[in-house]
Amino acid sequence: MNTSQHMNITIKDLGPSVRERLSERLHRAAELKCAEHGQAPIAVTINGRENGWFDSRWTTCCEGLEQQASAIVKQRC
Ligand SMILES: [Zn+2]
Repeated sequence: MNTSQHMNITIKDLGPSVRERLSERLHRAAELKCAEHGQAPIAVTINGRENGWFDSRWTTCCEGLEQQASAIVKQRC
């Protein structure tokens, strides 16, 4: 089953160029699968910050999967 289509992505306060750079990382994060629960990340909300930084908030089955997902996405754009 392809679960990567099901992650719900919300991006706030970020311009199109940052969205484009993020989309590849978000795609990779969406393909993660929790080793313990067999689940992909359910949803993520990205909030833009100053100077190209941003926060990501995840909905996942557990903290371990959230840490893996945010590690992929968190670098500065
Ligand atoms: Zn899990």
